[in-house]
Amino acid sequence: MGRKCSVVGCHSTVGLHYFPQDLDFRRQWLRVIGLGESCELPPYAGVCKKHFARDSFASLMEFELGFAKKLLLKSEAVPTLGLPQLRKKLPWSSRITFASSL
Ligand SMILES: [Zn+2]
Repeated sequence: MGRKCSVVGCHSTVGLHYFPQDLDFRRQWLRVIGLGESCELPPYAGVCKKHFARDSFASLMEFELGFAKKLLLKSEAVPTLGLPQLRKKLPWSSRITFASSL
């Protein structure tokens, strides 16, 4: 079976990055991608590069210029993009709604 991105709702099979080995850090990833901290993942599970901001990569410049064969994630990188909608406060939109209702 091919590998697939573990982010809920994403079915990408390319540009996958493995989950971190560190357990706490791994839980953090699981939480942000919508799986829940206690989710058991297969060892080959990964998150595709679409979910990482450009500054999450240690070798982006080299990769884009063709000097590096692989995109390397920084050790502290956490997925932040294209994630399932988690319930969190959005001070932005609430302020806009408030202003337009005046
Ligand atoms: Zn993905």
